[in-house]
Amino acid sequence: MIRRFFTYYKPHKRLFILDFSSAVIVAFLELGFPLAVQWFIDSLLPSGNWSMIVSVSAGLLALYMMSTFLQFIVNYWGHKLGINIETDMRQQLFQHVQRQSFRFFDNTKTGHIMSRVTNDLMDIGELAHHGPEDLFIAAMTFVGAFWIMLTINIKLAFVTIFVLPFLVWLIAFCNIKMNRAWKRMYSDIADVNAQVEDSVSGIRVVQSFTNEHYEIKRFTENNGRFRLAKLAAYKIMSFSASGIYMLTRFITLIVLVYGSWLSFSGQLTYGELVGFVLYVNVLLKPIDKISALMELYPKGMAGFKRFTELIDTEPEVEDTEDAIEVASLRGDIRFNHVTFSYDKHKAVLDGINLQMKAGETVAFVGPSGAGKTTICSLIPRFYDVNSGSITIDGMDIRDLTKKSLRSQIGIVQQDVFLFTGTLKENIAYGMLGATDEQIAEAAKKAHLEEFIASLPFGYETQIGERGLKLSGGQKQRIAIARMFLKNPPVLILDEATSALDTETEQIIQTALTELAVDRTTLVIAHRLATIRNADRVVVVTEDGIAEEGTHDELIKQGGIFASLHNVQFQR
Ligand code: ADP
Ligand code: MG
Repeated sequence: MIRRFFTYYKPHKRLFILDFSSAVIVAFLELGFPLAVQWFIDSLLPSGNWSMIVSVSAGLLALYMMSTFLQFIVNYWGHKLGINIETDMRQQLFQHVQRQSFRFFDNTKTGHIMSRVTNDLMDIGELAHHGPEDLFIAAMTFVGAFWIMLTINIKLAFVTIFVLPFLVWLIAFCNIKMNRAWKRMYSDIADVNAQVEDSVSGIRVVQSFTNEHYEIKRFTENNGRFRLAKLAAYKIMSFSASGIYMLTRFITLIVLVYGSWLSFSGQLTYGELVGFVLYVNVLLKPIDKISALMELYPKGMAGFKRFTELIDTEPEVEDTEDAIEVASLRGDIRFNHVTFSYDKHKAVLDGINLQMKAGETVAFVGPSGAGKTTICSLIPRFYDVNSGSITIDGMDIRDLTKKSLRSQIGIVQQDVFLFTGTLKENIAYGMLGATDEQIAEAAKKAHLEEFIASLPFGYETQIGERGLKLSGGQKQRIAIARMFLKNPPVLILDEATSALDTETEQIIQTALTELAVDRTTLVIAHRLATIRNADRVVVVTEDGIAEEGTHDELIKQGGIFASLHNVQFQR
């Protein structure tokens, strides 16, 4: 895990070396200053050489300034290193999430992904900067200071070291506790985030059921749990900070008392005593750093672990190595004994056979939950079949690149997702880089022209979050315009008109019929009136494909379709 963490330093090697070597020099200077003070008191002061005192002080000033400058580098460039690593990881994470398959999003809460991208990565960034540097510097100053203390006075050095095990024990004890506390805290904040995401994106449902209280109650619980977890973490942190403070002051006192006694008996000069007290501080400083690391390390590493877990989740649907890039498909689709399930327990499709000839319009009808949408999700490989195969123009879709396959399939669903941006940008989503003329033509074909002309800003009109300002029919026409731009040979209309009123449906239906010309079209529809033009009708039930034939054939047959038809048209 740690080795993997370090691979992220590679692109920023120079920055790391600059930061690290500055920190080492600062540590050396820190180690040297008390020695200088000691020499100042014991040798320089008694000599009474004022000009010497001034020039030595000037020299010290220069060194202090150098140390200050280097500390600035360590602070600024060191954090820059951390920020760079954090940015790289965030970029990698986003790209990785973009590649994930549908099943991943079925099983992952958006709020949890958000937590990864924000909180976790910030902690990792802090650790990336402070981790290796502080650890090394701490070890170096600790060993250096103790060694110098030994040379000043062995007895005093050993008395000092006697208190250290208590300090180390305190830190280790708190470290373990902290680890647990941060873990709790992070899983709790992820839950809070997930609920915010859930309730906000579902706020319309919440308010229409006037269930705000219920949501608030659930939130209060989550928020309260997070509060307790964070409080617990800070309690341990405060306990350890106070404990460390007390023990370090205790050491200083011991040194003063025992040092005074040694000085009375002539075993220690004043300069050595002052120097020694200063070294106690140098010795203990790394312990401060280590206790800070003790906060950073478990937090950062826990975040990094979650980060790697996400990064290691391979997309379920991937191109094979020799996947074929198809330029243009005719759109001849076949399902051969296709079996598929979302989870192991229950097969949604079991040995389905289907054939859709290029350019044909096939309607799928049947009760909801029968698997119509599932059939359509398999064609663009949003999921892979468990067994059997799907071919397009005779080629197994698993042998084609995802990109070339999906670029030839257009999907219009009941819910149209609009991105924050202008109307123009939203239409152009069907073909990035489309010219204004192409966009206008697509809008015209989608019967959007009049509507756009009526807007004060026309194509440049901003569409609010999720296109709230647009009606269902308007959104649907934007989706259709996108399809005209995309111009795919295969078209899937999954209840595209189901949410519309009859009048709007008429307009959309006209646009859709025009869109379907010369394309293999799969239409899923509740209202049977909308599938009159279909070449063929497939009736899907929970038991598979029940009936197949033309509209008139199925009516004549007097089966499921005929009875559905009778119900809807009251014959
Ligand atoms: P239809 O479109 O005919 O209404 P679907 O294809 O959406 O039916 O669903 C078929 C079955 O698969 C249903 O039992 C449904 O609960 C289940 N299902 C659909 N989508 C998912 C999913 N993403 N994860 C798990 N089960 C699913
Ligand atoms: Mg469906």
